[in-house]
Amino acid sequence: MKKLFDYLNPLTRLGSKKYSFWLPLIVNISIPFISEFYAYYIAENPEAVGAYIIFVNVASVIYFSFRDGTRGGLISSLTAVLYYFYIILTRGYSGERLLPAVETSGLLGVTFLLLSVIIGFLKQRIDTLIIREIESRQNAEEGRLRLQTILQQLPIGVLMADAKGKTLEGNKQLENILGRKINGNSAKYPDDRLIPKDWPITRALQKGETVFAEEMEFVKENQQKILLKVNAAPIKNRNGQVIAAVSILNDITRERDLENRKDDFINMASHELKTPITSMKIYIEILANMLKKNHDQKSFKIIQSIKSQTERLQELISDLLDVSRIQTGKLTFNKEQFVINELVEEAVEILQTTTTTHKIKLAKSSRVMVFADRYRIYQVLTNLITNAIKYSPDNSDIKLMIKTDNNKVVICVQDFGIGIAKSEQTRIFDRLYQVTDPTEKTFPGLGMGLYISHEIVKRHRGKLWVEGEKGKGSTFFFTLPFAKK
Ligand code: ADP
Repeated sequence: MKKLFDYLNPLTRLGSKKYSFWLPLIVNISIPFISEFYAYYIAENPEAVGAYIIFVNVASVIYFSFRDGTRGGLISSLTAVLYYFYIILTRGYSGERLLPAVETSGLLGVTFLLLSVIIGFLKQRIDTLIIREIESRQNAEEGRLRLQTILQQLPIGVLMADAKGKTLEGNKQLENILGRKINGNSAKYPDDRLIPKDWPITRALQKGETVFAEEMEFVKENQQKILLKVNAAPIKNRNGQVIAAVSILNDITRERDLENRKDDFINMASHELKTPITSMKIYIEILANMLKKNHDQKSFKIIQSIKSQTERLQELISDLLDVSRIQTGKLTFNKEQFVINELVEEAVEILQTTTTTHKIKLAKSSRVMVFADRYRIYQVLTNLITNAIKYSPDNSDIKLMIKTDNNKVVICVQDFGIGIAKSEQTRIFDRLYQVTDPTEKTFPGLGMGLYISHEIVKRHRGKLWVEGEKGKGSTFFFTLPFAKK
């Protein structure tokens, strides 16, 4: 019974695009038959079909256009008009009565038609809107579920807070990291806030700040100290108001611990290697002198190769030590006043002796006094010039220039070699970073030189950067402030 009621009730069919064809047709064909039956067999008067039929038809048009859209209404209108013409034919309307009867039927037909189009159109429009609303609600719900599953599966902690920081939500991983429950109010801090003031998410909420990779210490309830890497970002509405914020927390305690141990190992290993290599170099020197005295040219040549390889090894160890000094903040400088041009000339002169394939040219410039660590700046120059030689395999020239700009000196080292893609131009200064291009030949190296040089220049309040294009060569620039008079 309920099923039948639901089937007939147009309201329960709102939001469904199932429009019947047969029900309106059968019902609307039945109406004339029932009416005729009533007139001929119950009232026994063919003229008894009166105004009631118009009322029934209006009701049918409204009902079916509301139940089955324009099509339901049109079926009702059409059958009604056909029935009126049937009545005109069978009841002998003629002469003066014919025209008004045809006119009335026509007018009623147009009215029915208008009614069915308007109501049917509205009904169909409402259906579309309801369906769209349901779909968007479903989509939103599915999106929420999807997001929740992703959040729960993420290997990092995710914390979300509303605009006032009053409700908090966190995924499982976050609870594992912090060792406490996060959802709701359980994580209250003494002054009635859920999150401590200095957490990046608080800044994102209060100042709309976006925080990237900030390191933060956190003490768990069991007093265990952990190191977190935190990102945070505000979520803003269309008017730019902060409505919520999200923060990503990554426990990097183990990672940092491993890194520290690796650095310690490199530091220790380089220190351990330094002593035997220094002794080796002394013995090689003694041996070389002995061979020279004995005029043993062949052995002397071999010992010279051993010497240069030992020197290379010594340079590598010294770079390793520098990297580790930078990491531990132990890189120190002995600054003094000197003329930078003389140091550059010296570097050019010495490095020119190491290559017969490249010509190193230094442009003339006026003398500039700087206050810096001579040895370390020499190290930067050596690194840039040897790189320029190494990365221009087609034996082109290397050009050096010393310019002044405001209160600083700019030293440029230009080569016409393989160049560096724009996307790599900042990354080459990272620790152990080397450009790898499968289409190019590989160059030996460990990617420490530019990292060290960058740090040295930075610690002199200068800047080191590169310009150029891949395939066309690179120009490295570094600045140093003038010595104060
Ligand atoms: P290494 O030369 O030992 O690999 P560096 O720190 O000196 O390490 O350089 C880092 C990377 O930068 C190099 O591996 C190389 O890919 C790129 N690079 C440095 N100098 C140049 C240059 N003059 N031309 C092209 N690429 C360079």
